[in-house]
Amino acid sequence: MPYCRSHMNSSSYDTLSSVDGCAVPVVDAARVKDVLERMPPEDEVIDTADIFDLLSDPNRLRLLVAMIDGELCVCDLAAVTGMSESATSHALRLLRAHRVVSARRNGRRAYYRLADSHVRMLLDLGFTQHTGERPGESPQPHLAGVRSAAHPERI
Ligand SMILES: [Zn+2]
Repeated sequence: MPYCRSHMNSSSYDTLSSVDGCAVPVVDAARVKDVLERMPPEDEVIDTADIFDLLSDPNRLRLLVAMIDGELCVCDLAAVTGMSESATSHALRLLRAHRVVSARRNGRRAYYRLADSHVRMLLDLGFTQHTGERPGESPQPHLAGVRSAAHPERI
């Protein structure tokens, strides 16, 4: 679904299934140049795609949401998400390898926290959009903790 129809009121957008491609291939060189000038560098695009890839798994999302209000140890994260401790540790290692979370050891416990302010914002956006997209309604975030993107803790 290339476009969300509810956002397109023009009748010319009502037959999207018939406009999958242009009838005549014509490139607007000026438009393409403008877009290319604001296209981020290749490494930034790849890094960002990696982040979305990490966020594409429900279990990893639950882990990240669990850490929004502060650090949790691996046992607590496993309990919150319902995952086994080995699955939790595996997911956390992956998130840590991409610097989405950071870890510290305190005695016999390993604590994890969010380490990327952009991911925090993506979580905020991601869980806001599903509730308020209908016209005339304002977004109703159902994750109170996510709203604390301005959480005072430094990351
Ligand atoms: Zn623990």
